[in-house]
Amino acid sequence: MDAWQQSIAQSLSDPATLAARFGLDPAAVSKVAARYPLRLTPHLLTLIERPDDPLGRQFLPDPRELANDGLPDDPLAENRLAPLPAIVHRYPSRVLLLAGNNCAAYCRFCTRKRRVGCAVFNLPFSELLKGVDYIAGHAEINEVIISGGDPLLLSDDALAEVLERLRRIPHLGVLRIATRTLTVLPERITPALATLLGRHAPLYLTTHFNHPRELTAAAGEACRRLAEAGIPLANQTVLLRGVNDDIDTLVTLCDRLLRLRVRPYYLHQLDPVRGTGHFRVSIERGLQLVGALRERVSGLAVPHYILDLPGGRGKVALTPERIVSLGPAMVIRLADGGTAEVPNDEGESQAVPRGLST
Ligand SMILES: *Cc1c(COP(=O)(O)O)cnc(C)c1O
Ligand code: SF4
Repeated sequence: MDAWQQSIAQSLSDPATLAARFGLDPAAVSKVAARYPLRLTPHLLTLIERPDDPLGRQFLPDPRELANDGLPDDPLAENRLAPLPAIVHRYPSRVLLLAGNNCAAYCRFCTRKRRVGCAVFNLPFSELLKGVDYIAGHAEINEVIISGGDPLLLSDDALAEVLERLRRIPHLGVLRIATRTLTVLPERITPALATLLGRHAPLYLTTHFNHPRELTAAAGEACRRLAEAGIPLANQTVLLRGVNDDIDTLVTLCDRLLRLRVRPYYLHQLDPVRGTGHFRVSIERGLQLVGALRERVSGLAVPHYILDLPGGRGKVALTPERIVSLGPAMVIRLADGGTAEVPNDEGESQAVPRGLST
């Protein structure tokens, strides 16, 4: 077993142990964990000091996940866009290949909360290979985003097999791997993995960092190793209430990512997924934050502020010009001249409007 596999084996997933460690109500933790999976890696446990710190909020179960927030389980209609269990095909030229259904640790705000870590959605390797065959049979696809669950929970051998099969498909250009391991399991980025990924260029790796405290020495070392193996790095951040919805946090995060040779790519408006309403930030505040960020950091460090439209209509980059009308249901203008109505509230307990801390 590799060191990272040992770390997973040593992860904390027992509700009672977790509740005792962080002073939480064991019954409440058990109830949440019975519905949505729970796992914290040893590395993550060294980073969480209190339940309400930026890491605690992202990874410790919260009773509000079970509040009836009236939100759908699958707002992006990924189930409908899945011709096979391992494929989400929304855009003609690029496709998501789901490499598995497990993550090293479970983010409480996850868009795929309905399925990740749940045994009934288990995705065997044979399904992954069927997904590769689907891609081979669709010449209009030129880019594959390997996602999940976390694709880097595959062993190096399994990953090598998938990448080699994908590289044999003549119509594919760029490969992309989306992973959260640099935050929760940085020991996964071994020299052998960096070499393996480097052999399949052009291969981009997207990291998922939400707060500067995730940029530990170990995460920085993992970024260096990947960059030196010739792998371009881009980061996705989810805008989360109480975690990173203030300008100083975003400035520090984006500036430090750029120094680590990671280009801030997307800042995601949280998808309106059941059980995540308490993390919601309004679009007005998101636009203010991105506007303020642009004045404080290099243009290279400014991510696109992205909204994934409900119903599987795809992503739009949010800019002030897109806004047709404000309010709890905001209307935005789409590139095709149409409009879409999107939720714009601040979650179940309305936040006191906060000014920008610049
Ligand atoms: C986000 C997403 C992509 C990739 O979109 P980019 O804008 O190219 O990063 C592809 N397919 C699906 C289903 C997605 O949700
Ligand atoms: S790592 Fe990604 S897929 Fe897994 S729980 Fe976190 S956000 Fe969801």
